[in-house]
Amino acid sequence: MEGQSLPIAKVGFIGLGKMGDPMARRLVNAGFSVHVFDSDRSRIERFLSTNKAEASGSLEDLTRQCEAVITMLPNGNVVREVVLGKTGVGGSALLPGLARGSILVDMSSSSPVGTRELGRQLSERGIPMVDAPVSGGVRKAEDGTLAIMAGGDPAVIERCRGMLSAMGRQIFLTGPLGSGHAMKALNNYVSAAGLLAASEALMAGKRFGLDPGVIISILNASSGRNNSTENKFNQFILSRTFASGFSLGLMAKDIRIAMEVADATGTHTPLGIRCMEVWRDAESKLGSSSDHTEVIRYLEEIMSESL
Ligand code: NAD
Repeated sequence: MEGQSLPIAKVGFIGLGKMGDPMARRLVNAGFSVHVFDSDRSRIERFLSTNKAEASGSLEDLTRQCEAVITMLPNGNVVREVVLGKTGVGGSALLPGLARGSILVDMSSSSPVGTRELGRQLSERGIPMVDAPVSGGVRKAEDGTLAIMAGGDPAVIERCRGMLSAMGRQIFLTGPLGSGHAMKALNNYVSAAGLLAASEALMAGKRFGLDPGVIISILNASSGRNNSTENKFNQFILSRTFASGFSLGLMAKDIRIAMEVADATGTHTPLGIRCMEVWRDAESKLGSSSDHTEVIRYLEEIMSESL
């Protein structure tokens, strides 16, 4: 099909949230022609007020303008709705406008099982799909230094490389479609377990008479350090700003997906199951939109004691 080996120049971007907004901005600044959409009109207006991009009135219009469409949405169910229009987003969906050979790139942290199914449905219409979730949070989205885990046909990923390089520093090819989403969920399980373990250690250490700031400094100079002790405790937890930009509900969802992967592969994960239960309980007590670093508040409430 004509044009399908050419680099992608026109990109649709759906989901201008905490991550999507800075990621789409990276594409604009890298010279791509970007058409944006979000179900929250105010997010589109905010984006257009500071970026040279186009807004499409409907999802179908957006796809007609673009060679590739990126989704950066809360989860795979929302991606599915947006693509297939099952429940409809303003009565509109991507699929009717997608030309054969145009590419769907789901950069959300979706469930790999749903991704494979959606990919199968799209391939019947001649539309390749890539899953390319990211790690690094809002700061790395702004800097364009995200880690990107790309699953799908390597030739299709290659066509997307220019776009992905505008948003990420490292692009890992993880294998077939869905493998990027599986990897992302497993990564976030490890991250969530590390944050929870350090939070528990902090609470116990404080009760023993240790200073929380000193505990973090010592962990960071010792074998107990992890990404949370280095990049979250002083910044968002001890400072009580809880402003990491990644919600508790999204983290709980990612651990759930990781445990789906474990379940589907018959993997014994006693720690993972317990971790999922704790985060689920924290989500129900603190609310999905709390920042994920507020998980410490869940422990504080149970112990009726603050750090
Ligand atoms: P967010 O809630 O800030 O943004 C989601 C955006 O999607 C919002 O602008 C919302 O209006 C829009 N949206 C929701 N439903 C829609 C629909 N039906 N049609 C069109 N737009 C719709 O979320 P976020 O923090 O930007 O996360 C997005 C994805 O990236 C999630 O899958 C998350 O797990 C993942 N992620 C987040 C981070 C982080 O640090 N925030 C890091 C890595 C990955």
